[in-house]
Amino acid sequence: MKSMKPKTVSAKIRIISTTFFLLLFPVIFYYLSPVIPLAGASEGIITGSLIIFGLMFIFSIFFGRLFCSYICPGGKIEDLVEGAQNKKFRRTRFNWIKYLIWIPWVFMLLFLFWKTGGVNAVNFTYMTVSGISVSDVPSLIIFIIVSLIFFILPLLFGRRAACHTICWMAPFMIAGKKLGKTLNIPSLHISADKDSCIHCLRCNERCVMSIDVERYVDKENVDTTDCILCSECVDACPVSALSLKWSRQ
Ligand code: SF4
Ligand code: SF4
Repeated sequence: MKSMKPKTVSAKIRIISTTFFLLLFPVIFYYLSPVIPLAGASEGIITGSLIIFGLMFIFSIFFGRLFCSYICPGGKIEDLVEGAQNKKFRRTRFNWIKYLIWIPWVFMLLFLFWKTGGVNAVNFTYMTVSGISVSDVPSLIIFIIVSLIFFILPLLFGRRAACHTICWMAPFMIAGKKLGKTLNIPSLHISADKDSCIHCLRCNERCVMSIDVERYVDKENVDTTDCILCSECVDACPVSALSLKWSRQ
């Protein structure tokens, strides 16, 4: 996964951005939580995290899973683990687990809103103290447990294993990305020039999501919902056969 090339501008921006959001993680923890929207729904309240999940869905129609590579603190923890080991994630047969979390979650949310008679209020900072998520010992313990999960899964199973298997936010973005493609809306994606490719497989080696990028070169589009648009493959390609492109797919 290590490159001998100097870091590109996009790689530097990604490092700065993800480090910033990792430092902010104790503050924004509840705004990414799947539990807070359920607690809010049981009182008929739309919470900050539910608003964020909705924005994530809309954002992903145009920008795919850019959130995962430039913002997500959980993803950053996984990338830091990746620095300690260099294992590809090969258990893609377990990718369905995140839907096993997400689909019942959606139904539970709708059920709770229905049970309380719909939406009574919007409270962006619900269950935080002055907007800060980790403000007492119980919330600190939960924060440490969640952070450890994002540390241990890639350590055991390879790069971004938590993104593949348990991330409750990924399905929002996968759904948004699929909707954008179905409606033929222009979006950001990794484009490939099959005539330039020399099949060196460096893109495969570098892909943080362990995607077989080279397999998509013939299609001239890395057309998979696993891609988080980190551009590592673009930076790794010695003949510039890959690029980040804004167009209809
Ligand atoms: S295919 Fe490229 S842009 Fe997509 S996740 Fe892999 S390395 Fe990142
Ligand atoms: S790194 Fe570039 S040249 Fe090598 S296989 Fe991937 S797309 Fe082809």
